[in-house]
Amino acid sequence: MNLILMGLPGAGKGTQAQKIVEEFQIPHISTGDIFRDAMKNETPMGLQAKAFIDKGELVPDEVTNGIVQERLAQADTDDGFMLDGYPRNLVQAKALDQMLSESNRHVDAVLNIDVDPAVLTQRLTGRFICRNCGATYHRLYNPPKVEGTCDVCGHHDFYQREDDKPETVKNRLDVNIKMNTPLVDYYTKAGVLHTVDGEQEIGQVYQAVQKILTNL
Ligand code: ADP
Ligand code: AMP
Repeated sequence: MNLILMGLPGAGKGTQAQKIVEEFQIPHISTGDIFRDAMKNETPMGLQAKAFIDKGELVPDEVTNGIVQERLAQADTDDGFMLDGYPRNLVQAKALDQMLSESNRHVDAVLNIDVDPAVLTQRLTGRFICRNCGATYHRLYNPPKVEGTCDVCGHHDFYQREDDKPETVKNRLDVNIKMNTPLVDYYTKAGVLHTVDGEQEIGQVYQAVQKILTNL
């Protein structure tokens, strides 16, 4: 099952990805996570990406396509994968089709998590993440069951992403909203787009996702 999780920043891609990976056992490939790892390790690619990420801009397509190509060449993706946050524009979507066709693969489904942009600022500015395992929470909508303790790994150390601070969020949303409609059109024409109402509760969104994936 070759999947793409699509949606504006804060739509709930990472939250749903955690559940999909657990049930369907496919590798989760988040370009945002790959960039954050590279920034933490101060690799040349990380330092290059940081300049764009800190402003809420997209990292240039050549860089992003290159890291995805490298990742999809790894054997654990042979039986399926889930891309999260990639592709983000038409150039990337076409590059992905090209990469996959070179290894006789194709996209089976695009899950488009649809949320009104007006809701997203609050989702992003309230998001916090476990430093140990990367599990994602929200101050109001999805707090850990025990305050200060990660539900998944039990650690107590959380952080807020630099680009979730209010001064960056607006530009990130503007940049991504502009790219979103052409992508939706592209995958609708390809006959693989499935749209899910992402304004429901997290569990209800997942029920809709499960229904789509089990029917593929
Ligand atoms: P993305 O990966 O698409 O940027 P996340 O999965 O990190 O989005 O979700 C953004 C924030 O919104 C997180 O704080 C998360 O806990 C919260 N969230 C995710 N899904 C929902 C939902 N259906 N309703 C309310 N809050 C949600
Ligand atoms: P995300 O974790 O998906 O919200 O991504 C965080 C940031 O990483 C984005 O705001 C971009 O700057 C960068 N990024 C992630 N994925 C891509 C992509 N497919 N193309 C370009 N930049 C990306």
